[in-house]
Amino acid sequence: MNEGQFILLESAVDLTFLWSFLILLALGAVLGVLIFVAVKFFTVKEDPRIADVEKMLPNANCGACGYPGCHGFAEALVKGKEKKVSKCRVGKEATTYDPIIAYLRAHPNEDGSSIEVTK
Ligand code: SF4
Repeated sequence: MNEGQFILLESAVDLTFLWSFLILLALGAVLGVLIFVAVKFFTVKEDPRIADVEKMLPNANCGACGYPGCHGFAEALVKGKEKKVSKCRVGKEATTYDPIIAYLRAHPNEDGSSIEVTK
């Protein structure tokens, strides 16, 4: 291999590296935009009351209420699928049940209907 052939081979390798880099850069940019669009349009916003009720539960995540954890039970209460706060066996009347009942009465649904839960 003479000097000229070596330089040609070297620049071909450089171009291959450059094209690989540019293609990966473009692919990363396209995928980044797609992820941004997916997050923007497909994000499911959760009712903030669920997180608030979850904070008031004991957060033992024991499953004694029949749900896999406190988040599931809080969601059921807020969505009206569960009517008795005392299904949380770990909770106490004064520190768990009463505050949750008061909170849900003070924070009705968007249509104005109230969430009826009892002890
Ligand atoms: S029983 Fe109470 S502490 Fe246990 S998972 Fe259910 S809500 Fe959480």
